[in-house]
Order: sequence, then structure tokens, then C-alpha cells
Amino acid sequence: MAKSYDVVVIGAGPAGYVAAIRCTQLGLRTACVDEWVNKKGEPALGGTCLNVGCIPSKDLLQASENYHRLQHQFGAYGIRAEKVSIDIPTMIAHKDRVVNDLTSGIATLFKANKVTAIHGHGRLLDGKHVEISDPGSNKPKETIQAQSIIIASGSDPVDIGEAPTDGNRIVNSTGALEFLEVPKRLGVIGAGTIGLELGSVWQRLGSEVVFLEALDTFLPAVDQQIAKEAMRQFKRQGLDIQLGTRVVSATVKQKQVSIRYHGKNGEQGLKVNRLIVAVGRRPNTDNLVSPELGLLLDERGFINVNEECRTNLPDVYAIGDVVRGPMLAHKGSEEGIAVAEVIAGGIGHVNYEAVPWVIYTAPEIAWVGRTEQALKEAGEPYKAGAFPFAANGRARAMEEAVGMVKIVAHKDTDRVLGVHIIGPFASELIAEAVLAIEYSASTEDLARTIHAHPTLSEALHEASLAVDKRALHKAN
Ligand code: FAD
Ligand code: AMP
Repeated sequence: MAKSYDVVVIGAGPAGYVAAIRCTQLGLRTACVDEWVNKKGEPALGGTCLNVGCIPSKDLLQASENYHRLQHQFGAYGIRAEKVSIDIPTMIAHKDRVVNDLTSGIATLFKANKVTAIHGHGRLLDGKHVEISDPGSNKPKETIQAQSIIIASGSDPVDIGEAPTDGNRIVNSTGALEFLEVPKRLGVIGAGTIGLELGSVWQRLGSEVVFLEALDTFLPAVDQQIAKEAMRQFKRQGLDIQLGTRVVSATVKQKQVSIRYHGKNGEQGLKVNRLIVAVGRRPNTDNLVSPELGLLLDERGFINVNEECRTNLPDVYAIGDVVRGPMLAHKGSEEGIAVAEVIAGGIGHVNYEAVPWVIYTAPEIAWVGRTEQALKEAGEPYKAGAFPFAANGRARAMEEAVGMVKIVAHKDTDRVLGVHIIGPFASELIAEAVLAIEYSASTEDLARTIHAHPTLSEALHEASLAVDKRALHKAN
């Protein structure tokens, strides 16, 4: 007889593993099926995020930023370091250690919470049964049964025929975390979040980096005042970001990649030592559901779900990157918690208006809520205020006084509608803004909140004052 659970979760990324833990916390007997195999050939929990996404990229960003600061920033304090060098294999090994610690941490959490971890590929047979096979094999080894199923199968990098990855010279984001030497010239197709982060890593380590981006607008989802400032900062750092370009072909010859692309000046050529393809991610629904079940996908291939993450099949839910909405780890985790609550008979809710976004470049970019251009387009009455980090004491002391905090609020009600930050630790500062949006705060609420001095958070306080032209540490 098939082993039986209250809930079976397919996928142990940040959506699936969080859902599984919350389910057991709520008293539901839960199994989590995951097929990930790490580069040592071992099963590893945590999905894209822990293995080849959020965590390893942040580790390399930190390493490269430390190296860059020591060379270019610490001199301002009189700190002289001669013959600075970086050992790339040691840097990669640090990243691997952090990844390994955190992925095994999920295994420990599963044990502590009594989540049954099953290594293998899960395929939904009939809405109540999941067939498991060894990763890479089509031979079923076991079938398990559950009252409710949560699909959290995540996403994979998009490939483009014009630049086929070979795992060596032309790579996707996963390959870009494994270079063992700094490429002299690096090409990046796609100047979105992932491309910018990975390009920054290698640029700080010494690569000349060229981005080829299809769109004419840089970071269209970002408030355009912030995006313009980002472009200015990135250009100053030497990043070459070419907008409005279409790659026609990329071919590997010996140690070089020859790229042909259509740009502002017609068809052009570019030679690089390595090429990263970072043009987005696609939902992973490969061999996930028996076709006769009729699981509905949307027109972009995401599993179709309602606001409670219910699919069209009874008691089958889907969460994380495989469904609509931002492809972000914390969005998937929140959906996992909400679905667990619903299955346990409670109420689950995700406030999609309050999802923070972060790009971990230097300076970092972070935002929550609506942009000024979106409010303008919608014809909504708004007011805006900004405060530069150049006038923030802590940022000055840190030698990182670039960028700004910008707040947009409803013109009549004063409710905070969006907060947009480019600057030091924007990723951390955005948390206060998320809370403000979650609690429907007004800029007056932020203005009346005491912020410690001297801190970077004072820039947020000042931006809330600037909305009504009463910032204290800048001329209004
Ligand atoms: P995934 O993490 O993709 O996990 C899905 C899991 O399901 C995988 O382990 C997969 O093997 C398994 N699986 C799939 N199908 C099956 C099946 N049929 N049977 C069994 N197992 C299956 N997001 C952020 O929020 N912050 C960041 O800083 C950030 N940085 C990123 C950097 C990079 C380089 C990349 C690539 C992504 C980054 N992301 C970041 C995005 C983030 O990784 C994803 O949004 C997140 O991992 C999605 O979580 P998930 O649980 O939906 O899916
Ligand atoms: P993101 O959506 O943040 O993952 O970023 C992906 C980026 O790649 C977006 O800015 C896209 O416009 C860009 N992009 C997608 N396809 C191509 C392509 N064929 N050539 C260049 N850029 C692309």
C-alpha cells in the first residue's frame, strides 16, 4: 500500500521547504520530495536559492566587494594594502562551504520538524498520488499518497538558441558561479537582476564587462529616477551596459566567444573570454504531472493558480517560481506558509503589494510598492520626496555616500505607496519600508518615528519629511 501523508510537497526550494515545515508545525503529516543533486553528486535541499541562486551569488558578491574595497576604498582611511591578491579557487570553496552548511541545515530542520524528506523526482498521477523515480531515471520506485499536494518545482534558466550554453565558455547563472579564473573580458546577455549581480562579481575582480540588453529601458520595473542613478553609478564603475541590442549569434573558438549582435549602430561583433546568458527564468513543469490530469498552465507556462495558490485540480496547490508573481525566494516562502495555513483549515494570505525587491549590486537597489512612473501612468494623485545619502553622516563615515531614498505617497491620504532606495545596505533598509506598506502607514507615521543617529535609516526618515518639503538636513 502507498505510504500516506496529509501533505506531499514537490520541491524543497524556499517555497517548498518552508511550506513543508509550516505544515508539520500545524500538525499535518508531511513529506517533501526533491530531486536536486549538487556538484558532488549528493542530494541537497534548498533548491535553486540555496544551491545556485540567492546564497552563492551573495557569497561571491561579498567576496568580490571585500576585495574591491580593500583596493579602491580603504585608501581613503589611510589603510594601505600592498600586493593585494585574490585566490579564486579559495573564494569558490568559501561559497561552496556556505552553500553546503545551509543546505544541510535544511535537512536538520526537516528532522527537527518531522518532515519526511524523499530524494527523487515526483510526478503527480491523479491529484492524490505522487510517483517517485530516481533523478534522471523514468523508472518509478515508489508511489505515495496525500490528502493535499503542494507543487513547488521552481524554475530553470532560460536558454536562447543564439547563444547555446556549453557549460564552459558560454554559461548560465549556475556556470557563472564556478569560474576558477577571472575572465579578462566578460559578456553578459541580459542586464536584469541576475545578470547585473553576476557581472558585478567578476567586474570587481578585474573583468572588463559588457552587457547586451534587449530592452531600450534600463531596469524598467525599477523607479526610473533610481534606475537612472544606478546606470550613472555602474557606468562610473566601468560597466559597459548596451541597451537595445539583440544577440544574433555566439560561437566558441578556442578560448574566445565571438558574439554578433544588432545594436544602435547596426550589426556589430564582440569578442569575450566568457559569456553569461542571464535572460530570465522559466517555470519548471517538466514531467511533473500526468498529462491526462489537465493541470492548467497560463499563457507563459506558469501553473495557473488563484489568490490562494489553488490550481484547477482539487486539493492541489502551487507556489513559488512555478506560479505567477515575482520570482523571489521570500515570495515563494510566504506562499508556502499561506498554503499550509489554508490546508490546516486556517486563513492564508500573501500581500503581493508588500513584496520587497533587491538587486545586490554596489550600490544596492531595493524597493517595495509602486513606482512614480506607474502612479503617473495610472493617473493617481501622488507626492514624492527623496533624500540623498551624501547628506547622511553614517554613509559619509562608511565612504558610501551615494544614492538616495525616495518615497512616493498618496497626495490626499499621505499613505506610503512606494519606497525606492539606491545606496548602502538598501537590502536591509527596505525592511522598514515593507513594514510601513504592510501596516498602511503614512509618511507622517514614518516622520514621527524616531530613528537612531547616526544610521543609514535616517535617510528614510528624512525622505518621509521631504515628501512634504520639510527635510531637515537638505535644502527643500
Ligand atoms: P526552486 O528554488 O527552484 O526549488 C525548486 C526545487 O524543486 C528544486 O530543488 C528542484 O530540484 C525541485 N524539483 C523540481 N521539480 C521536481 C520534481 N518533479 N520532483 C522533485 N523535485 C523537483 N531570489 C531572491 O529572493 N533573492 C536573491 O538574492 C536571489 N538571487 C538569485 C540569484 C541567482 C543567481 C538565481 C538563479 C536566482 C536568485 N533568486 C533570488 C531567485 C530564487 O532563487 C528563486 O526565486 C527561488 O529559488 C524560487 O524558489 P522555489 O522554491 O519556487 O523554487
Ligand atoms: P530578469 O528578468 O531580471 O531575469 O532579467 C533578464 C533580462 O534579460 C531582462 O532585462 C530582459 O530584457 C533581458 N533579455 C531577455 N532576452 C534577451 C535577449 N535575447 N537578449 C538580450 N537581453 C535579453
